[in-house]
Amino acid sequence: VATVEIIAIGDELLSGETVDTNSSFLDAFVESRGHRVLRHVSVPDDEGAIAEAFREAASRTEVVLSTGGLGPTQDDVTMGALARALGCELRLDEPTLAAIRDRYRSMNREMSENNIRQAMVPEVGEVIENRSGTAPAFTCQLGMAKVFILPGVPREVRWLVAHQLPNRLPVSAVQIWRRTIKVMGVGESQLETRIREVIRTHPEVRFGFRTSLPENHVKLFATGVDAQQQIQDAEEAVRAVLGLDVFGADDDALVGVLFSKLQAIGRTVAVAESCTGGRIQAAITSLAGSSEVFRGGVVAYSNDLKKRMLGVRPSSLEAFGAVSEEVASEMAAGVRSVCGADYGLSVTGVAGPEGGSSDKPLGTVWLGFATATEVKAHRFLFPGDRELIQAIAAGMGLDLLRRELMGVAI
Ligand code: ATP
Ligand code: MG
Repeated sequence: VATVEIIAIGDELLSGETVDTNSSFLDAFVESRGHRVLRHVSVPDDEGAIAEAFREAASRTEVVLSTGGLGPTQDDVTMGALARALGCELRLDEPTLAAIRDRYRSMNREMSENNIRQAMVPEVGEVIENRSGTAPAFTCQLGMAKVFILPGVPREVRWLVAHQLPNRLPVSAVQIWRRTIKVMGVGESQLETRIREVIRTHPEVRFGFRTSLPENHVKLFATGVDAQQQIQDAEEAVRAVLGLDVFGADDDALVGVLFSKLQAIGRTVAVAESCTGGRIQAAITSLAGSSEVFRGGVVAYSNDLKKRMLGVRPSSLEAFGAVSEEVASEMAAGVRSVCGADYGLSVTGVAGPEGGSSDKPLGTVWLGFATATEVKAHRFLFPGDRELIQAIAAGMGLDLLRRELMGVAI
């Protein structure tokens, strides 16, 4: 496993203009090769600062990857900075200059004088051909580190990573295994508390936690010859503790898991939404083939529609209000029968920012669930602003359905 540092170069990365997507892209590549990124550094288009960043990175990591600053203009100084770090001069690379000339000729454009700058590379090292742009990439040895210089244009980075880096950054011989266990309905700190014993009894596995509301993820990481088995054992132990709170792993998506279950048991669902404005139905219908499991639904925002379209009783609305157990239950039962589905799901709540009260504060949400024989509703209090409350409510609605169906035999 090689240690890697990534240097992102460009004034625009330090002024709020450009988000550094190149570094994350390179992270994923490095990770897929079985190596480890230990640090990201961002530096402005300043020759001294870039040279120093190269020297520092090379002194503490085995591989250094940089992007940016290879353009034809005076403010792109990465090659000069690398030469400075190497203690050598720049030289004109004739094949690169010829390639740049050809490129312009094939586009029927005149090459300008400053493009010659893009053919200037350090005397020590090797040019890497870049067929997706004019600036070449470059590699050299700096101290103990292998350095790769890439352009800043994301499309060019992708091309070079796909075509030129794989054979230059071989796959690590050491086995690395990862697994992401996905959880709904359990907060991060509660999650850690619940699996504390599993963490303690699996010291060879590294545990990490990631929140992506309303989901929480437990990340497992292990290296070595036994890593796969260690990860499997740890996952089994986590699942044993968390039970139904785990909805999937790695690439599983909540709505996909729900969809597969409905498909497997050959049942359909209909949805009545108030405060989520259709988000649950949008999520279900984002999957191809959803007509197999999704009958349809209603966005019933006004009380009037809740009565007329879903059969919610006027007395329930008057006595308990739209955000209540009774109304959530009647919405779920109503949409189920109106749409002719096996299951009815409903959501009604206070997404705010206005409308909260002491007994129904902002974030109060009722989720309802109905089958042919039973109806129930659950009360929640979700955190955040309007957007977050809506997103969490939609996710928890899908999750309620998933939990109800998990016990249903195929
Ligand atoms: P080329 O010589 O191929 O034109 P370059 O090395 O000169 O590339 P820059 O001029 O630094 O690249 O940047 C080109 C474009 O790429 C700009 O639009 C810039 O915002 C974008 N870019 C640069 N660095 C990054 C980065 N780290 N993440 C995402 N975009 C970036
Ligand atoms: Mg630049």
